[in-house]
Amino acid sequence: MIDTHCHLCDKRFDKDRPQVLDRARHAGVTHLVEIAYAPAIVPRAHDLARAHPTLFLCVGVHPSETARVSESYRATLRDHARHARVVAIGETGLDFYRAGPPRADQERWFRAQIALADELGLPLVIHQRAALEDTLAILEETRPAAGGVLHCFDDGPAAAERAARLGFWLGIGGCLTYGHAALEEAVREAPADRLVLETDSPYLEPEPRSLKRNEPGLLPRVLRQLSRLRGWGPAEADRVTTANARALFRLPLEDGSAAASGWA
Ligand SMILES: [Zn+2]
Repeated sequence: MIDTHCHLCDKRFDKDRPQVLDRARHAGVTHLVEIAYAPAIVPRAHDLARAHPTLFLCVGVHPSETARVSESYRATLRDHARHARVVAIGETGLDFYRAGPPRADQERWFRAQIALADELGLPLVIHQRAALEDTLAILEETRPAAGGVLHCFDDGPAAAERAARLGFWLGIGGCLTYGHAALEEAVREAPADRLVLETDSPYLEPEPRSLKRNEPGLLPRVLRQLSRLRGWGPAEADRVTTANARALFRLPLEDGSAAASGWA
């Protein structure tokens, strides 16, 4: 399995990060994508990637960070994005859930990151909360060339279809275990090649929510629920979603199960 969205630089992992990565490996997670969504996180994410060859990076400015990141960071972000381990731009998008940064700041950074992704030929990792329609409208207007993923997808078949028409993937995580009927319908009906797995660790622990923190080693809980909804065996669900994640991020992995598992 590939965890396409995690935040292992979060301070909630400071006490046991090596054990968390160890548990992920034992759970069958071969690769992870760490989302470095603010300037201060990028150097720490690079350190983590240096120590763990199975970790890829996504760099960007989260909508909730947009008011405090200066315009001059755009050039720095471009430099970060050219690093060989960086496979995507984000997470970016719009978030109207809380009283966050003004929409103008969020939208300016969203459009800047779409332009950067197009310039570098990278896919986008999209975050939206209470802003699905506005987010999809901007994506449909700009049509990012390398596509991307609607991270933490938690909507119905109509939104899934619009994402697929854009050449986007659906990031399926803990929400799939929360009993959301529209999401379950979307995941049952979506084209198989559009589904990728994610945890969003340390957020959104899959049911049973007992640990108060999510971690990549809990990805099998999402895989099991996906298998149930699609009528797949777990091995099939793993094979399909891993191939999809490799396609989405163009992961520089060789074919074959031995090579695909990059753990030293
Ligand atoms: Zn995230």
